[in-house]
Amino acid sequence: MMRQPDLVELVKAYDPRADEAVLNRAYVYSMKAHGAQLRESGDPYFSHPVEVAGLLARMKLDTASIVTGLLHDTVEDTVATLDDIERLFGPEICRLVDGVTKLSRLELQSDQTKQAENFRKLVLAMSEDIRVLLVKLADRLHNMQTLRFIKNADKRRQIARETMDIYAPLAERIGMHRMKDQLEDLAFAELYPDARGSVMARLGFLRDRGGDIVARITAELTRKLSEGGLTASVSGREKSACSIWRKMQRKDVPFEQLADVMAFRVLVDDVGQCYHALGTIHSAYHVVPGRFKDYISTPKPNNYRSLHTGVIGPERQRIEVQIRTREMHEVAELGVAAHWIYKQEAGRTDGPQYRWLRELVDILEHSSPEEFVEHTKLEMFQDQVFAFTPKGEVIALPRGATPVDFAYAVHSQIGDTCVGAKINGRLLPLRTKLNNGDQVEIVTSKAQTPSPTWERFVVTGKARARIRRYIRTQQRAQYLDLGKAIVQKAYRQEGQEFSERPLQLVLKQLNCATTDDLYVAVGEGILTGREVVNAAFPHAPDAAKDKVVPLSRARRRSTGKDQAVSIRGLIPGMALHFAGCCHPLPGDRIVGIVTTGKGVTIHTIDCDTLETFNDEPERWIDVAWSSDEAESVHVGRINVTIANEPGNLGSLTTTIGKQGGNISNLKITNRSQDFFEIMVDIQVADVKQLSTIIAALRATPVINSVERARG
Ligand code: MN
Repeated sequence: MMRQPDLVELVKAYDPRADEAVLNRAYVYSMKAHGAQLRESGDPYFSHPVEVAGLLARMKLDTASIVTGLLHDTVEDTVATLDDIERLFGPEICRLVDGVTKLSRLELQSDQTKQAENFRKLVLAMSEDIRVLLVKLADRLHNMQTLRFIKNADKRRQIARETMDIYAPLAERIGMHRMKDQLEDLAFAELYPDARGSVMARLGFLRDRGGDIVARITAELTRKLSEGGLTASVSGREKSACSIWRKMQRKDVPFEQLADVMAFRVLVDDVGQCYHALGTIHSAYHVVPGRFKDYISTPKPNNYRSLHTGVIGPERQRIEVQIRTREMHEVAELGVAAHWIYKQEAGRTDGPQYRWLRELVDILEHSSPEEFVEHTKLEMFQDQVFAFTPKGEVIALPRGATPVDFAYAVHSQIGDTCVGAKINGRLLPLRTKLNNGDQVEIVTSKAQTPSPTWERFVVTGKARARIRRYIRTQQRAQYLDLGKAIVQKAYRQEGQEFSERPLQLVLKQLNCATTDDLYVAVGEGILTGREVVNAAFPHAPDAAKDKVVPLSRARRRSTGKDQAVSIRGLIPGMALHFAGCCHPLPGDRIVGIVTTGKGVTIHTIDCDTLETFNDEPERWIDVAWSSDEAESVHVGRINVTIANEPGNLGSLTTTIGKQGGNISNLKITNRSQDFFEIMVDIQVADVKQLSTIIAALRATPVINSVERARG
């Protein structure tokens, strides 16, 4: 256990102005408060806060943090009160101890909700003063270092799991990579002893076979750099067992095939030398494509700066090389703790590097604790890409994010109305995956609404939640309208005046909570209009009452005039959709596909999508347009290729307008140097009108090609 004068000396070494008296008082106070308490290891309990204070001193933190380390368990585990702490050590330390104490009380709640709540409190506490988290991390590190003394195996696992899921990623997020590595490896050893054992054994085997390969490569890199005129300190290490194991899982490869298990670090004096060293290494060895990252010109949000590259090294092995200045290295290892002594901004969290923290707090206030943990695990801890707004603001997104994710990250409204994205000045599809450093300009339109297809490619929780919510309300509104129309039609056939009153009386019988729910059920095809009417007017004579009619018979029985919708061949009251792939129009030959719970989807007979249903003949229904369809409006979809010249888009829309077509949607699906590919949805009466429009477009010189969409 560290003695009182050793601790003071350790602090004085980096902070000569440190208040020695308060350190001494805290040391003695904590020792007396914990008295004869013992840890599970049999050590005096007091050894724990002293070790925590020692870890904080090694991070070169301010006196208040170290005093908090000494006192952090006194309020929770001894008779000391917050009032005592405030009286003896002042309000600042009292606030810090209070923050850490609150977190300790919430720790290790086994059920999901409580653990999530714990995490929520942690984020809130550290958003007020980041030092609360620093003390908590040191506390957790010492507990992990002494984890083996805890006899209860479940409790050990739980502590390790929490460390792995919450504390290690948080340490990384604030740039404390050394802390993160230590926490992660200790947790990994507890949670996956077999996996760790086998990785360690393989590393040992390689070491035996290759001799001291790390030392040889280190020496070789040093020599190459000094030939290039650089005095650099090079160090090499095997990557941690946990990170190797994770990579094996992520890439699904056995250890033998795993490249770069070794990482080398080159430290130089200034930024210019970093790029000089990079040039020297790249000209000496083959570069592994796709591995170069420049976090010097674009630092990570946690202020991490470094050059990363991968090369086929001197021993024909893939190695990772990180190049940075000594100052950058200190930040990389210690993160927010690095500049503590120089900047006396004690714990403030309003700088731009804490934007993520403020966002977390924001999300916290608008979601349940479980959702929050899920969201945070998904987004905060993942590999990220950093894209820029046109004004140069950095938006951090998970890897694989698209312009739609970007738009939602900037503002929900921008996400909802985005129609296109310019990435580095080029208009590209919304599904494009963003790369680090992309500048993204979102094109919006007030007429746009979230599209269901976005859900297939977005990766952020925020975007997905907004899109889903929109689709749900949208679908419900459509089903509601359709269902209401079907019920009204069924009333007419029954000779009844429409009124909601009889429906309200049978809601329970039909398993619906409200009349709107009832309409939605009918719209979705879960109930038929006839079932509803039969329930509402049980006395009414009806042959088909309460009988489920097989589809084939229903088709034979049905005639043109008793349709709830004006397509011949459908069961009365069945919900109907026009397929979005082929956009059938009156005059097209069509076919219906039945989907349980969703009704019938109408496709054109030559739609490519139909191939998917080839093996399910029972789902096909013959349908035809009925005559009164002619009065309604349908949407036809065409794909147009047009030369990329000023005014050409104008010719396209004018030509369509002259033929009486009303454009309901227009979307540039691809844009190259020479051509646009555009998808146009046009409201037309029937296929004849669409054919006329297509013919007119083909006659227009600037238009390269026109095709009707075929699924
Ligand atoms: Mn503790």
